[in-house]
Amino acid sequence: MSDSNPINTVAVVGAGAMGAGIIQVFAQNGFEVLAYDACEGAVEKAVQRIEKILTRLVEKGKIEESAKRQAIGRIKPCGALSDFASADIAIEAATEKPDIKEQIFKELDSILPPGKILASNTSSISINRLAGATSRPEKFIGMHFFNPVPLMGLVEIVTGDKTDAATINAVTELAKAVGKEPLQCKDSPGFISNRVGMPMINEAAFCLHDGIATREAIDGIMKLGFNHPMGPLALADLIGIDVCLFIMEVLHRDLADDKYRPCPLLKEMVAKGHLGKKTGKGFYDYS
Ligand code: NAD
Repeated sequence: MSDSNPINTVAVVGAGAMGAGIIQVFAQNGFEVLAYDACEGAVEKAVQRIEKILTRLVEKGKIEESAKRQAIGRIKPCGALSDFASADIAIEAATEKPDIKEQIFKELDSILPPGKILASNTSSISINRLAGATSRPEKFIGMHFFNPVPLMGLVEIVTGDKTDAATINAVTELAKAVGKEPLQCKDSPGFISNRVGMPMINEAAFCLHDGIATREAIDGIMKLGFNHPMGPLALADLIGIDVCLFIMEVLHRDLADDKYRPCPLLKEMVAKGHLGKKTGKGFYDYS
């Protein structure tokens, strides 16, 4: 990147489903990546997964073996957040719990030099709330990547009330530098993606719950009628029914409008552990 405050080193907190994807896209696009996860061995496991994915890309002729080796070589597993002092930006992709994230940002605020950007990949927690855990709300922003990160083209850039223009520009350029399309919105419950997308999934669950149509018909109607690549119930299985329920509860509570009430079927499924693809059963059976 070529501005006066270039971003060369990206620190990633959390190496789960999203963190691993974020680590991969930055490493593949020439950035040095510092990676930390509170769970011992998680970063190493993420690097192994990334290596497997890149090996497949080499086998398919999509990337060179040397590009794979260079990308893996750019990833530096870190034993503590204190190893992030040389980072130009920190992107947090840890567990979706406000207190965990607030604690992480308090620490990052004391580790990264003032002026460096702190970003969160949260799906549902207020950017203003997380910014409030730091002494630099003007340098705080949401960078909402989508799953699976290497394949999904969007980064929803979520601005807090105090986020400054330089920060917005820097993360916009950063998203473009890893081949993503950055689109901006203000901090608000569910941002745009989940405020618009999750009620569709919830309504599809209501249609099934009310016996209006089969799951196949609901998904087929939405796929063919709206030109969606997959139906809302199949998408819910991919996202995780627990995640869908949690986001509907956030919308219902924070927008204080009953039109966001979660479908009882989602609650039933979560209680039974039918969380979608990750448990082998959701709206569909994956066993
Ligand atoms: P995940 O459970 O797969 O990974 C979370 C990781 O954070 C785990 O490896 C965990 O050990 C680590 N962690 C927990 N506490 C930590 C701490 N204090 N310090 C460092 N690491 C810590 O979750 P995920 O699906 O990767 O989600 C991560 C974030 O991305 C969440 O905020 C989520 O809302 C958001 N997100 C998820 C998706 C999705 O589809 N999964 C999509 C967009 C955004």
